[in-house]
Amino acid sequence: MGTKAKEIINMDVEEVIGLLNKAFADEWLAFYQYWIGAKVVKGPLRGVAERELEEHAGEEFEHAEKLAERIITLGGEPILKPEEWYNVTNCGYAAPDDPTTRSVIQQNVEGEQCAIEIYNNLIDTVKGKDEVTYKLIVDILEDELEHEEDLQNILEDLEVMGK
Ligand code: FE
Ligand code: FE
Ligand code: MG
Repeated sequence: MGTKAKEIINMDVEEVIGLLNKAFADEWLAFYQYWIGAKVVKGPLRGVAERELEEHAGEEFEHAEKLAERIITLGGEPILKPEEWYNVTNCGYAAPDDPTTRSVIQQNVEGEQCAIEIYNNLIDTVKGKDEVTYKLIVDILEDELEHEEDLQNILEDLEVMGK
């Protein structure tokens, strides 16, 4: 990171890196939860659910990539060992033990709601202090809001079908 680039950050850079690494762990776990969910999901609206879960997996992967890039730009190191994800995650991981559509989708809604809260808090933390991270997190939050809505729409359709 350039010296001027560092100078314009009005907070402890290590703190930003730590918060971004926690979100980075969340994104990998969210990626896997969606990815494996898309593989095992079954029941009503299976095809619709599978496509949405796959799409979201891809978007969580992109979030992980963007967070890693920002961590590196800030002079930090993205978590190198997957086992560390569990130590730092905010939102955890929910295994799709019950692979029916409603259950898998509901687990992911809960994950999204956690992510929304975390990113919304992160925005407050970096606002006016690290504008580049701020912009990145606002972009990610926008995706998470869309994810929650997409999943809740499927739950609504299941409800209408009486499933
Ligand atoms: Fe995400
Ligand atoms: Fe998401
Ligand atoms: Mg979607």
